[in-house]
Amino acid sequence: MCNKSTNIKIYTYICTIRFLHLITIRLYAEGFYPVLPLRWELLFYQTATFAKSETTAETENCTYLCLKTSRKSFVRILNRLFTYEDAQRATGRTVFASVVKPVGSACNLDCAYCYYLGKGGQSGQPQKMTDSVLEEYVRQYITDNAAEVVSFCWHGGEPLLAGIGFFERAVAYQKKHGRGRRIENTVQTNGTLLDRAWCSLFRRNGFLVGISIDGPEDIHDAYRRDRAGGGTFAKVMHAVSLMREEGVEFNTLSTVNRMSEGRGTEVYEFLKSVGSRYMQFMPVVEHTVGDGCRAAIVPPGTPGSQRAEWAVSAAGFGQFMVDIFDRWVAHDVGNYFVPFFDAVLAQYVGLTPALCTLGETCGRALAVESNGDVYACDHFVFPEYRLGNIAHETMADMVKCQRQMWFGLAKRNELPGQCKRCEWLFACRGECPKHRFDMAENGEKGLNSLCEGYRMFFAHADACMKFMAGELAARRSPANVMSYMKKNGNKYDEK
Ligand code: SF4
Ligand code: SF4
Repeated sequence: MCNKSTNIKIYTYICTIRFLHLITIRLYAEGFYPVLPLRWELLFYQTATFAKSETTAETENCTYLCLKTSRKSFVRILNRLFTYEDAQRATGRTVFASVVKPVGSACNLDCAYCYYLGKGGQSGQPQKMTDSVLEEYVRQYITDNAAEVVSFCWHGGEPLLAGIGFFERAVAYQKKHGRGRRIENTVQTNGTLLDRAWCSLFRRNGFLVGISIDGPEDIHDAYRRDRAGGGTFAKVMHAVSLMREEGVEFNTLSTVNRMSEGRGTEVYEFLKSVGSRYMQFMPVVEHTVGDGCRAAIVPPGTPGSQRAEWAVSAAGFGQFMVDIFDRWVAHDVGNYFVPFFDAVLAQYVGLTPALCTLGETCGRALAVESNGDVYACDHFVFPEYRLGNIAHETMADMVKCQRQMWFGLAKRNELPGQCKRCEWLFACRGECPKHRFDMAENGEKGLNSLCEGYRMFFAHADACMKFMAGELAARRSPANVMSYMKKNGNKYDEK
């Protein structure tokens, strides 16, 4: 028979512990450190697990009914979930990243899928960063950041529009405020303005150049066009040859869009042929309001928005990554690097992935506009995600403010139930919130629009990932997967 009173007792007990846990964590987050050792959430989870293991199907139903009666408040609590690890993140050393836009969203090209165009933030107003903003940004980013290596990421729009002098001054400010810190610079460019003078600056100052190239000419020119509507492939290839001649270190960033579908292997081999050893692939999945290619890009959930015509389909993206993975795992592990594959492998061995999109939470990667405005993330440069301005607030305060903390935790706390029950959650984490446009199977909002593709990829790569994780655990090289694959006719046999 159903023991409803027992279940009510269990539920009350769970709620009490949960309540104490929330108070403890809140006190800790406010700086009351002596409460740190009180790990109520462990007790909470242990009790919940115990309650579950002790219940029969019948009593489980009763527990469910008890929970259901106050479902709304329970869901509210879960959505505000704040764990011991979150508290440590919120109060520990301030390690964060940022992308900075010397000319805001200004660009000499007019790529159809550019996510900076049409946004309501400062991005819409081209404006070159002044020297005083530049120096303040450099100073704060170095002094507020506890990262071992302070990594500057110059982004756009097209950052080269700021001119060589701007970057020379930036390097001078880094030297002035660096005080022995290790500093790195990366710059993400469309390459069309790059000449020998730029190459010389980058080589002298050890910049790593990320060049945007989507693949062979027809794929690249489909959406990466200049303002007159012409293709940009030839100019980008010229920039690549210059960098190779001048000895500038570069890698590639390729969007995966509707034109790339079905051509993963071809794109991968093409990028290898141009000298890229480190390839980032970025799926473009945006929603727009309005008609045509220049329709305004809007955040998930905007009424009346629709999937952009150039957006990659979920299955198309999954197949694209599967095709590249197959080529990579058979021939190129250790010689060519695809950050997405490394990040997935990191999840298998319990390390923090280097890609924020696969992290459990986000909120540690700010975007700094040319006027000093700071936003929650480069992909959320909308007025409601503005955190402040470096002229009035410090970056350390902004990255740790409550609004930013909830922005970061929402990546985990607002996952739909389908993700929470998903066998690939450990690797996927629901991916980036900017892609969560779809409905889950039960009609819940917030499922990632690329879900089908991710499931396809994870299922396909699982066996090889497990093999590589095993090699790492045994202190051997994950590149052994290649000889293993060869021996087995490129088939992985789990036995
Ligand atoms: S919103 Fe997406 S891109 Fe921004 S930090 Fe989070 S996961 Fe990364
Ligand atoms: S694969 Fe799909 S269901 Fe699973 S965690 Fe990722 S987005 Fe969620």
